Amino acid sequence: MRVMPAELVFPDLPERVREVIRTLGDAGHEVAIVGGAVRDRLIGLAHRGEWDAATAARPEEVASLFPGATWENRFGTVTIGAEPLVEVTSYRAEGTYRDRRRPEEVRFGVSLTEDLERRDFTINAMAWLPMDLDAGRGTLVDPVGGQTDLDARILRAVGEPRERFAEDALRLIRAARFAGRLGLTMDPATEQAIREAAPTVETVSAERVRDELMRILALDATPSVAIGILERLGLLVVILPELAALRGVPQSKAVPGDALDHSLAAVDAAAATDPPELRLAALLHDLGKATTLRDGHFIGHEDVSAVLAANVLLRLRVPRALADSVVGAIRHHMYDYDSAWTDAAVRRFVRRLDGIDRDLLFALRRADNAASGVGPAGEANQDELEARIAEQLEAEHALLVDRRLAIDGHDLQRELGMPPGPEIGAVLDRLTELVLDDPTQNRRDILLDHARRR
Ligand code: ATP
Ligand code: MG
Repeated sequence: MRVMPAELVFPDLPERVREVIRTLGDAGHEVAIVGGAVRDRLIGLAHRGEWDAATAARPEEVASLFPGATWENRFGTVTIGAEPLVEVTSYRAEGTYRDRRRPEEVRFGVSLTEDLERRDFTINAMAWLPMDLDAGRGTLVDPVGGQTDLDARILRAVGEPRERFAEDALRLIRAARFAGRLGLTMDPATEQAIREAAPTVETVSAERVRDELMRILALDATPSVAIGILERLGLLVVILPELAALRGVPQSKAVPGDALDHSLAAVDAAAATDPPELRLAALLHDLGKATTLRDGHFIGHEDVSAVLAANVLLRLRVPRALADSVVGAIRHHMYDYDSAWTDAAVRRFVRRLDGIDRDLLFALRRADNAASGVGPAGEANQDELEARIAEQLEAEHALLVDRRLAIDGHDLQRELGMPPGPEIGAVLDRLTELVLDDPTQNRRDILLDHARRR
């Protein structure tokens, strides 16, 4: 059956995207918009994130037209900077996949239709070919029935599902992302193939799994839906076994559900617009509950959670600084503030959180509270704690703001003739406690006086 190309209007193409199309077109190359932007346009969703373009031009031709673009040599993707990012991929067919990771060979110089046929899902295998760029008019190229599936809200692999997942097991996780984001039903053959291939997701590189997981966590709508699909299809237990282990771990919270339900509710309670590490922290914040339940309590679960989360983040090759923030927030998420805390107690708390990303920690706690059904009292408690901390920091207590005691070890050696050694550290610790209790004591003369009287 030959389908007539349908006209499709793209009224609000970002100027950057037009520019890229114009530059390639003026140089005589066919160019089309593909991927998420076309799919989102057809269902009337605003497209966030990068734009994908495909062109008949070879990668080196694309790169020469856009000086300053990043060029990923082997796979022929050229990323053109500035918001929104435009990723230009040369039409290509892919050869055999021996290791379920990467194509063995990439063949350029094929048609747009062939390029679309090597893509993962029918809803992702559509292209928009511009005719009149200024008016945003063009035609929809849809060789594998993507629009029909999109209208019926069906996720279907292009071609033979088993083969497609054997070529690249990352597609298994992508399936959950698209189905979760768009509320799609899986075509039965596609779903069956995913279940069968689930263990092979282990062969995907950690970086690709990480990036796909972060894209799930960045979904506008509740990421819990996509993660639930990962679980249902047997993928979660392979990529995040520590999280899958929370299924069935009972919780006694104001809201029903087990520890996995709670973790996912905490993820959903954070907004897509929050920094990405918040949803990551929420996802992993209770991993320790799988092994710490004794007599209805999860004693010390935050420490176990922190250790497990650190393992997960290392395995997924999450950048060190980000992993450290997440682990720090998880380790400290069980503090128990109440209004009776003295100002000195508030200062001690801040001091204990030295080196911890407090904004992340507090946002995690708010998400945790929301997911626990703690209600307005919990919010008010957290508001009060943050206000009291701000008050202490505003008073510019040097010890909190600059982490500075008015004297140091050299002063003790010079002024008191103390020999170098552990004794100096002990005296400084005692003086630190003193200053936390009463910041007005943080003066050189007073502290030396105290030290003399030790
Ligand atoms: P989003 O809107 O989230 O960016 P997307 O559909 O654009 O979703 P991308 O990862 O940006 O997804 O990929 C762009 C397009 O490239 C996809 O729509 C799909 O056609 C193709 N594609 C990406 N990754 C794969 C893959 N692993 N296997 C096959 N095709 C892929
Ligand atoms: Mg995209």
